[in-house]
Amino acid sequence: MTETNASLADLLRPVKHVLLDFDGPVCSVFAGFPASDVAKSLQEELEALGWKAPAENPVETDPLALLRQVAERRPDLVSPADRQLTLLETAAVQTGRPNLGGEAVLRACAESGRAVSIVSNNATAAIESYLTAHDLTRYVTRTIGRTPGDPSSMKPSPRLLLAAMGGGEAWDFIFVGDAARDVEAGLAAGIGTIGYANKPGKRERLEAAGALVVVDSMKSIAIVLSDRA
Ligand SMILES: [Mg+2]
Repeated sequence: MTETNASLADLLRPVKHVLLDFDGPVCSVFAGFPASDVAKSLQEELEALGWKAPAENPVETDPLALLRQVAERRPDLVSPADRQLTLLETAAVQTGRPNLGGEAVLRACAESGRAVSIVSNNATAAIESYLTAHDLTRYVTRTIGRTPGDPSSMKPSPRLLLAAMGGGEAWDFIFVGDAARDVEAGLAAGIGTIGYANKPGKRERLEAAGALVVVDSMKSIAIVLSDRA
């Protein structure tokens, strides 16, 4: 057993409920409909409603960052922006790229009697659409996307994680995410985070943020969860 697997096994042994980020660990949401195109489309919709992009950042390529920007500068446009982004994310997941290791984690949790909740900054409707299309709803206890019209609910805020924990004991949970903001949200919610480094440079960022263990593949987590030894 490698050192990483040994620490993973120690971490996962007492866990009763795995909280999983969606974009990255379960699938690549914007694999077929790139995030920059989604942001452009959202920006055009917003411009029709009177949105003016800030001069210092005229082209935002991250749709979730654009939603945050709207909340800061034009709170009156947040609800329509969130609704529009939800439609775009729902379109994007149709061509999202599955993470087979992430699916293996879902199955391994079911087989080992652990609950799974998805905790994501994406819209709940888009995530549920993906899970249904890929026949994965049976593995997921609860899906908690950002609070509609309230981007301040998004990670690194702990709010979505705390909602998923429902007042349960922190040691029953572990969170798996692929961004530093996931690790920060985990720390703020009082639970440990396993970092999933799916791109070069992420390992260092996840470790610096405080991830307890960093894996390069979701399969490593699935293998440890399935290990009955
Ligand atoms: Mg992610």
